[in-house]
Amino acid sequence: MRDRDLPVAGPPEPLPGTPDAGTAGAPAVGEAVWARVTGLIERAEEVALACHVTPDGDALGSMLAVGAVLHGLGKRVAASFGDRIFAVPRLLRYLPHQDLLVPPGDFPEAPELLITFDSSTLERLGLLAANAERAREVVVVDHHPSNTGFGTVSLIDPGVAATAMLAEDLIYRLGGTLDRDIATCLYTGLVTDTGSFRHASTSPAAHLMAARLVATGLRTDEIARELWDRSPFGYLKVLAAALDRATLEDDLVWTFVSQVDRAAYGLPYDEVEGIIDVVRRTDEAEVAVILKEDDQGVWQVSTRSKGAVDVGAVCTALGGGGHHNAAGYTSPHGVEQTMADFRALLPRKA
Ligand code: 5GP
Ligand code: MN
Repeated sequence: MRDRDLPVAGPPEPLPGTPDAGTAGAPAVGEAVWARVTGLIERAEEVALACHVTPDGDALGSMLAVGAVLHGLGKRVAASFGDRIFAVPRLLRYLPHQDLLVPPGDFPEAPELLITFDSSTLERLGLLAANAERAREVVVVDHHPSNTGFGTVSLIDPGVAATAMLAEDLIYRLGGTLDRDIATCLYTGLVTDTGSFRHASTSPAAHLMAARLVATGLRTDEIARELWDRSPFGYLKVLAAALDRATLEDDLVWTFVSQVDRAAYGLPYDEVEGIIDVVRRTDEAEVAVILKEDDQGVWQVSTRSKGAVDVGAVCTALGGGGHHNAAGYTSPHGVEQTMADFRALLPRKA
């Protein structure tokens, strides 16, 4: 099928009897907020877009999808994320519309309008936090319950499975449609944040959105292979080392991956993201933790819960954030102290 024959998706018709996005009652984002956001965008000549540091599929996918639509509407668009070493994670290099990306140094210093994606705090914008502080308007598009409301407009719905769901709504409200490339960006956000439609957040609205996206002709098989089914050989060795030293303490399982582990195989930091998904399989554990040392020698902590423990609350208390069942933070300490601090805040079974 030639590209131009592929269908495009438009706004959904409401389905009778279908709960919307798992949010019962009043929608989290009121019509007045939507009107304010679309008004700000319509009046802006240039729109700056930012997502959280070391972007995941939801952060980068949502930002690039909205960026492509804004570009199509004739806006000047600059999209970025505030990592000191600016590189799109290898896993996400298949995403279309990366020509919209500029390094943080080339990002507008004091944007008229800045829109942030999937970032729960100002600090999560990294180097771009300073640009956000100087921006006239900051629209925060996010779904983290821990969001601090750091913008001038909060487009935040903790009831949706992914920021990509808000991005899709925003695109329709701007009069945009989805082609296969834009849908690929949004689908990446949806499929990563729902854990391939396995997590509790996977609402009817998430599946309905997936149907609209897949109908544009995107390749779910190719996206899945890029995201989950390929790694450099060194990943096997680093995974083996991490699993070999995994520790089970009551209902907590944890391990770590150091810079030295990765250096032995030249494995970039973003390649070890998926190890938590193996560690959290542990039947005996309610909570799973992995400490990952980044290229600056700082430990990034990823945590997962099966539901009984709110790891989002624990990580927020430790200076990070996230969701009830998936959260993280940056630790200023080494492995032992980091785990001692984490254990101290972990609610224990009575
Ligand atoms: P992951 O463990 O996959 O990196 O992140 C799981 C969840 O926790 C994501 O929703 C992510 O946004 C959030 N998260 C991870 N690290 C941090 C952090 O350092 N600060 C905050 N605020 N949230 C984080
Ligand atoms: Mn997200």
